[in-house]
Amino acid sequence: APLPGLYLPAGYEARFREGRFAGLEPRPGFPERVERQWVHDLAPHPTHSRFLTPETVFRDMPLLEPSRGCPHPCRFCTAGYADNPPRHHPLARLLGEAEAARPHTRRVGLVAPSPGDHPAFGDLVARLVAQGFEVSPSSIRIDHLTPEVVELLVRSGNRSLTLAPEGGSDHLRGVISKGFTEAQILAAAEALAAAGLHRVKLYLMVGLPEETEADVAAAGELVAAVRDRFLPHWRRAGRAGSITVSLNQLVPKPHTPFQWEGLAPFETVAARIAALRARLEPLGNVRLDTDPPLTVAVEAALSRGDRRAADLLLAAARDRGRWRRALPAWLAATGTDLHAPLDPKAPLPWSHVATGLITPYLAREAHRARLAKVSRPCPPDLVGCHKCGIC
Ligand code: SF4
Repeated sequence: APLPGLYLPAGYEARFREGRFAGLEPRPGFPERVERQWVHDLAPHPTHSRFLTPETVFRDMPLLEPSRGCPHPCRFCTAGYADNPPRHHPLARLLGEAEAARPHTRRVGLVAPSPGDHPAFGDLVARLVAQGFEVSPSSIRIDHLTPEVVELLVRSGNRSLTLAPEGGSDHLRGVISKGFTEAQILAAAEALAAAGLHRVKLYLMVGLPEETEADVAAAGELVAAVRDRFLPHWRRAGRAGSITVSLNQLVPKPHTPFQWEGLAPFETVAARIAALRARLEPLGNVRLDTDPPLTVAVEAALSRGDRRAADLLLAAARDRGRWRRALPAWLAATGTDLHAPLDPKAPLPWSHVATGLITPYLAREAHRARLAKVSRPCPPDLVGCHKCGIC
């Protein structure tokens, strides 16, 4: 019998009806669903960089993994669903791993969906900084950016940090279940500015379900308000800083409450980007970065695709990465409409992967998204919670 957790595509027959994916049929000896295998206790399983070399994106920086999974159910993100429950590596081990790398480097990266949710995050950063390390977290939630944490990160050598409200209005932050208030976002901006950071990155999303022009207008005002927090500090320091707004279109991901959503129409998204650009351009020191629609479409084709997505990869590879030719040809050949919602009653191309999440939970979260309701995170000790089906 196949090993648990191992998906062997050849062990399954794909069915299609009128060009649409209609499910996988296991061949004899193969299980109906492939059960995700996951480590319950991370303590006996150290995960950190084994090789340090300048020939990587992070150069000689050793990477430590404080946590796995994420307690926050942001509805666009796989980590808060399919990679749960949240689990943490012991503080002493993380410090020991950093210490072991000390002869080679003074920088250390903390890689996790939400490093700030490690129960000893403040202590971890403080002790790494005291040991003389520059600490570089993969991301930090706005509610973890306290003045103390920001001060430590800046003292350790960070010159730029990121704020990720993702939704530009209270309404959209409810839709995606990222329930920061504007006051929290601005307090975090103030903490960054007061700590002497001159460059800040702001992550926002566009093309979300339930999004309206009013949400886009609110996003413009939010960026302007963040800039207002920085201006006095830039003036006092005698040099202008910069705010880079990274605006990403939602690409619905498998095993999230948005998995049934279609990609928002590119014309709508383009109009909203243009409206935001018009609001931000006169401000100065603010840059707006967006992804080209082709990149978004390729990501959507691969995220939502069934096994026929392999043909797209092959076609693009054979055509030297010319997605502009490969993608339209593949969409036409497979009859795929990236913008069409998926049928909640039909099998999905990823339904055979059993993450532990139960579909009614995802459907309930999708419903709460339409009502713009923020959902609660996992309880700290995970005790007594069975709501998503994993624990
Ligand atoms: S069952 Fe509850 S605690 Fe466990 S991962 Fe799901 S939401 Fe989090």
